[in-house]
Amino acid sequence: MSELISYEEASRLLISHIPPQRRTTVSLSQALGRVLCCDIEANQDVPAFDKSVMDGYAVRSGDMMSAANTARVVGEVLAGELPDFSLGLNEAASIMTGAPLPSGADAVVMVEKAERLDNSKVILYASAQSGENVAFRASEVACGDVVLNRGQLIEAAQIGVLAMFGKTEVEVTESPQIGILPTGSEIVEVSENPGIGQIRNSNAPMLTAQSQQLGLMPIVYPVITDDIDTTRSALEAGLEQVDLLVLTGGVSMGKHDYVPQVLQSMGVDLIFHKVAIKPGKPILFGRRGERLVFGLPGNPVSSFVTFELFVRPAIRHWMGHKSPFHVEVEACLERAVCNEGDRDFFAPGKAAFAQDGIAIDPVETKGSADLVAFSRANSLIHLGACCGELAAGTLVKILLLRQPGPQEEG
Ligand code: AMP
Ligand code: MG
Repeated sequence: MSELISYEEASRLLISHIPPQRRTTVSLSQALGRVLCCDIEANQDVPAFDKSVMDGYAVRSGDMMSAANTARVVGEVLAGELPDFSLGLNEAASIMTGAPLPSGADAVVMVEKAERLDNSKVILYASAQSGENVAFRASEVACGDVVLNRGQLIEAAQIGVLAMFGKTEVEVTESPQIGILPTGSEIVEVSENPGIGQIRNSNAPMLTAQSQQLGLMPIVYPVITDDIDTTRSALEAGLEQVDLLVLTGGVSMGKHDYVPQVLQSMGVDLIFHKVAIKPGKPILFGRRGERLVFGLPGNPVSSFVTFELFVRPAIRHWMGHKSPFHVEVEACLERAVCNEGDRDFFAPGKAAFAQDGIAIDPVETKGSADLVAFSRANSLIHLGACCGELAAGTLVKILLLRQPGPQEEG
């Protein structure tokens, strides 16, 4: 199958072929960036005791009706201590932030509003309402409340919440094992000096980094030559070992682009091959059982872009992320761009936060091999097929590949 399909259709097909999510348990230190598989319920009240949120004096609010009150200091409570006394009429206790309130107390006067006269007396220059500077037991969370939801992404704050309730392990969706397999008889390893006609394998380290940004650690295979038998045995070995195999090169119309035919001969269903996008038109997506294969075009910019457009969403969907695709946001063109072609054009651009939104400056490149120029971009400008010339000032849709800075950073 090698019909040219639209970007939207390819995206839809992609998502409909991702295998069902599997569960796994990871330690709290490995949970960042993962998606929760179950609701997390509080196994205790928060706070677990009535506590002071200020350094000051614990009081009975009823004793504190005027603007200046003299109280007898009957004790001191440090954080981590349990007070073994209670407050009577006109009595106060020195108390630290986070310390439990002595019984009888229902408010705290901050230390800045207190003048200690001697060991046993303090003047409190404030009235106090019940509950002032106090966090009562269960006022934030009651035992049994759901504090994190199934399907929620675990970011730094969620790690903190899990830690609050003693969760040293957490059930999350499993990440796929990804493999990266570069093809091309002209490709040499990064440490080698390319001879005439040869080119270094820049794709594998780049795609590895893109995978690492999603929290995955890929298996990187050695480059294979453009030869049917070598291709078949490498693909078989790869599909045995990994959930998601990403090939680069060998998917176009060249005489030695064997990947599509070899995949088909191995029983891999080609879900799509060739999408109406630029760069990356020859992209291939296949599936055999629960294993997925991507054939990315070898040109470095095409490899990069098709990873972001298809491989990343596949991984994110597999991992249970609710919005697997890059979100498209509106940005204002700084300079004119043009797409006369009949494919969606994902043009590199440099986005920056401007006063009234996001400004996007197109980055000029010499085409899909020009990774050096492309590397200056932080976004892809999504130009619809045949949209023609769009003047500076036009609002366009962009995919942010990373967070832009302010405009003056240049
Ligand atoms: P292909 O998709 O195999 O036709 O390759 C397209 C272009 O990308 C060719 O110029 C290749 O030399 C180049 N290319 C293929 N694989 C890689 C790679 N792993 N790293 C850098 N460039 C590559
Ligand atoms: Mg090739």
